[in-house]
Amino acid sequence: MSAAEDEKISKSKTGLSPVFVEQSCFDKKWILQLNQPEQIENFICLICKKIVNNPIEINCPQHQDMDESLIVGEKCLKQFLNDNNNTCPVQPHNGCSYSQNRSVKVHIGALKVNCPLQFEQDSQTTTQGLQQEGEGNETVICNFNGKIKDLNDHLHNACPLKLLDCLYKLFGCEYSYPERKFHFDLVMKFVNSSQEAIHNYQEENKQLKLQLNEKDEILKLKQKESENTIQKIERESQQELLKLCANIEMMKKDFIEKEKHYNESIKLLQEKMTNFPTKKREKIMTISHLLISNILLLFLLICF
Ligand SMILES: [Zn+2]
Ligand SMILES: [Zn+2]
Ligand SMILES: [Zn+2]
Ligand SMILES: [Zn+2]
Repeated sequence: MSAAEDEKISKSKTGLSPVFVEQSCFDKKWILQLNQPEQIENFICLICKKIVNNPIEINCPQHQDMDESLIVGEKCLKQFLNDNNNTCPVQPHNGCSYSQNRSVKVHIGALKVNCPLQFEQDSQTTTQGLQQEGEGNETVICNFNGKIKDLNDHLHNACPLKLLDCLYKLFGCEYSYPERKFHFDLVMKFVNSSQEAIHNYQEENKQLKLQLNEKDEILKLKQKESENTIQKIERESQQELLKLCANIEMMKKDFIEKEKHYNESIKLLQEKMTNFPTKKREKIMTISHLLISNILLLFLLICF
């Protein structure tokens, strides 16, 4: 869509478009207040059909035979090239060639105008049918009457109609007067970009949560594993303990059996001893006594 079409749409939607926007081309009606049509007929922007601001001359060799002046406002041209893939605004072709036109700039800068904010206020009261006539004493009036080149200085430093910055400056508005459609777009843009940022944050959050869950899962698995090994070790050691107990029990039984056996043999021996003839018994006794005394002697000899 061209800048001119844009302009038409914004005009039809809001009813009014701002007369003066810094760097943009100038409103024809406003300039014609103090100038004759002949003074401006050659300085119409090819793109927006207003009076050029910061005039640029299109001078591609393709258009050498054309009679009319091929002049556009700098802001309009930049916008057009941007929106149309650098195609020339005169006829569609690539490699558009252009340059500043100083003499047109000087001519435009010297045009006499009233304050654009005053012009806007006047056209608003005429469209509203002079409703505020009774409150006229409250209306501020700007009496500026000067050259276009001095306008910026007037609006920034002297104009009583220049409001403080627009309330919507936060959203990127450069105007000093209310522009509803424009404000709506600005706010929507702001809201959209905020929503996008929120969406991005949410996505990031989701990703982080997923990662966290994954780590949690791994941790749980490891915990379960270690619990399992602990249980296994406990079970094994319990089994070992039981085996040990069984062994001890078996040894005990074995010991009792052996003891019984031993006692029986002693008894048998005693019985045999009592049945032994007394003489033989005495003889054995003496022999054993002798043997013991001899062993004692030997022991003493070894010791000393
Ligand atoms: Zn223009
Ligand atoms: Zn061209
Ligand atoms: Zn003013
Ligand atoms: Zn604004």
